[in-house]
Amino acid sequence: MTALQRLRADVDAGRVEEVVLALPDLAGRLQGTRLSARHFLDSTVTDGFGACTYLLTTDVDMAVTARSGELDPEGTGFGDMVLAPDLATLRPLPWDPGTVLVLADARHPDGGPVQVAPRQVLRAQVEALAGHGLVPYAGVELEFRVFTESYAQAHAAGWARLTPATRTGVDYALVGLERMDALTRRLRRETAAAGLVLESARGECAPGQYEIVFRYDRALAAADAAAFYRTAARQVAAQEGMALTFMPKYDDAEGNSCHLHVSLRGADGTPVLAGDGAHGESALLRRVLAGQLACLRELTLLFAPTVNAYKRLRPGAFAPTSVAWGPDNRLAALRLVGSGASLRLEHRVPGGDADPYLALAGVLLAARHGIEEDPPLPAPVRGAPGPGAAALPASLGEAADALDGSAVARKGLGDAVVDALVAAARAEEAGYAGTVSEWERARGFERR
Ligand code: GLU
Ligand code: MG
Repeated sequence: MTALQRLRADVDAGRVEEVVLALPDLAGRLQGTRLSARHFLDSTVTDGFGACTYLLTTDVDMAVTARSGELDPEGTGFGDMVLAPDLATLRPLPWDPGTVLVLADARHPDGGPVQVAPRQVLRAQVEALAGHGLVPYAGVELEFRVFTESYAQAHAAGWARLTPATRTGVDYALVGLERMDALTRRLRRETAAAGLVLESARGECAPGQYEIVFRYDRALAAADAAAFYRTAARQVAAQEGMALTFMPKYDDAEGNSCHLHVSLRGADGTPVLAGDGAHGESALLRRVLAGQLACLRELTLLFAPTVNAYKRLRPGAFAPTSVAWGPDNRLAALRLVGSGASLRLEHRVPGGDADPYLALAGVLLAARHGIEEDPPLPAPVRGAPGPGAAALPASLGEAADALDGSAVARKGLGDAVVDALVAAARAEEAGYAGTVSEWERARGFERR
């Protein structure tokens, strides 16, 4: 039975009443609309759903910031584009009975894909690798922090001085997690009921920090699952009267990462990263790694898209600060993990607010750059990278400048995508620069 036939049967039997049509946006969120399941089947499946073009130009406040030559909501009177459901992404929402969610691709009125739509950005990179006979696979590993307050209480407190759901850091802890057990159990069971394939779950370094690992999948499916999961986690937390956040750095404890595990197979499914190199790697993997390192600074904005992301990428934590790789080295930006068929890259730069589509697109573009251009591969590092390793961009502004000037990104992603992401970053940076923080009040109010 196809997904559409199954949905029809579920609607006829009264098991599904509503469909949430969700578009991955440029702020890393799912945004969308709720449709009666009948209307979805009668109209949206074939015609799509008209939604304002500004959805792929806004920040989280719905201000138009990601301007590019492709979408011009202000100039066109905030006209519509078409959200076309991809039925392969249809999942039930166990925490919202009678409801399914389906992801949408954004199309121009003439039917062509909107290039800046994150799903399309990733699809374009997957297709480009297919031209080399390669199929990318990915695992997306998100960490989050849980607090005992509800989101309403957190908002009333200005999101500050919240109570972590565990008394201490809980890295691999099996006791002391009780205040978040009900929430994390629901997350594990209900995302599994929604079709995500759970592998493992555990406490992490910071108070109230937790990580659920789902099985790797083809790159687009893995990004779809991650986008779904990040939305699901906040919806379930809200139902449980608790607040959880994926923001990369909530306070001065360990931050939230979004590690990406990436591997490649040939078109026939054969793993191609293992070989007879010194670390069990193939010549292809050496090129892929060299591409990551060559492009890392220019593409950092794809992994760290907010002001907050750069507060995680600082010395003294398990987050990288420089351009380096090493076999099983958690202190390097690129860690080589596994062996034989499981040999893969772990990209440790992305933080919890990275857009999974854009971040994976960045890894795949860098891989292709390595394959096509064969840049030199620096020596691996053991332990903490030394001062010889180039520093990652230290701020959003530095990363935006690097992407803006990147010939690799302009050629590989297209000007519309680069311009939109750079404009969004510059707007975010300007908003931050004009905002007075708690840190300034603590230092300046009475003591100066
Ligand atoms: N929380 C760390 C970070 O922000 C990662 C810890 C880990 O290796 O799982 O990068
Ligand atoms: Mg972790």
